[in-house]
Parts: sequence; C-alpha cells; structure tokens
Amino acid sequence: MLLLPCGRLAKSSCPRCSSCPVEDHLHVPRCPAPTAAAEWSKRHLALRTWMQTQQTAPEIEAFLFEYLKTVRQPSLGVPTVRAWSRHPHLFQRAISSQAMLGAQGLLEGLVSPNWRHLQALHFSYIGSKKSVNLWASRLIQQLIRIGHYMWKDRNRLAHSEDSSWYKACKREIDIGIREQFTMGLMDIPPHSQYLFRDSHKTVLNKSLEDRQH
Ligand SMILES: [Zn+2]
Repeated sequence: MLLLPCGRLAKSSCPRCSSCPVEDHLHVPRCPAPTAAAEWSKRHLALRTWMQTQQTAPEIEAFLFEYLKTVRQPSLGVPTVRAWSRHPHLFQRAISSQAMLGAQGLLEGLVSPNWRHLQALHFSYIGSKKSVNLWASRLIQQLIRIGHYMWKDRNRLAHSEDSSWYKACKREIDIGIREQFTMGLMDIPPHSQYLFRDSHKTVLNKSLEDRQH
C-alpha cells in the first residue's frame, strides 16, 4: 500500500521531478522528468499522425507541430515555418493570430479560426468531402487530450514508489528512526518500545508503512 506524502514540501512539489517546489497546471506539461518527456513526445507525435490521417493541410500540420514544441521549449519562439502554402497571406494571418493565443492556449484548445478557413480551402482543393467544422472540433479535442495524458502520467507516477513525494517521505521517516535509535528508548511510551527491539538496520528494511508506526 502506498502512503500519502508526509512532508510539507512534498505536498506542493511535483511528484515526477525534484526541480519544482510548487507544482501548478503550467508545470504538468513542462515537467522535465523522463516519464513526462516520454509522454509528451508520444502525444506530440500522435497529434501529427492524427493530422496526417485527417488530410490536414501540410502547412497547418507543419506549423502546429513545430509551435507545440515551444510549450516545453519556449526559447524556440514562434516557428518560421517554410512550408509552402497556396494561400500565403491567410497562412501568415493564421500564424500571427495563433501566436497571439500562445502555445499554452494551443495546448488548451485555443486555435485560430484562420486554420479552419485554410483547411476548408485545402479540402476543397483536394476534393475532400470531409467536414471542416468536424476537423476543427476534433483538432481541439486532440490538443486537449495531450494535456489530459500529461496529467494522467503525473498521477500514475504520483502514486508509485518512483514519486518524489514517496522518496521524500521515506527520507523523513528514516531520519526520524535513526534519531530515535541515537536517543534511545527513554521518551518512547512503554507500549511502543517493542518497535525498537530490532536493530536499526532491521527497522529501516521494513516497509514504509511499518516504519511510519
Ligand atoms: Zn515536475
């Protein structure tokens, strides 16, 4: 059985990495922990695959894929996509408009309406009968799902023995046990002294749940 975090720091910190003392919603998709990076990469590529299967205009696919990278790498800035477009002015307007909404906005499903106009022209050009409104609403769903999967990965790790909460809790309890062995049994109530009959090594090897008692 896994335990709740027991340190004050542990309750507000990120359970996946030790570099974030206060975890907020902005940190979840940006967490530098290996599992977060792997999940992000998987979902980012899945979005590209989805865009390709939905006959997304190549320039839209290229821009959104590159711009989404800036969620985790803001230093990249708004990408200068050299993708060719049959409608360069509309493409540039869409880029400028999306840049105003921001990469975090994109991740939250805030997409420029200009993408829908550009996609409608693309569907028309390739003779696709697909609904551009459906394409736009599913694109928004796909973007929001990335954040959802990042949250799920965070929760999966938070409830595992690999979480920084669990490790901090374990450290705190072990320090307490060592200190108690150093101080002796003088201030331990008689009914609890049996817990210290074993050597400190034996106690430290017990499960975290047992060590907390
Ligand atoms: Zn983190």
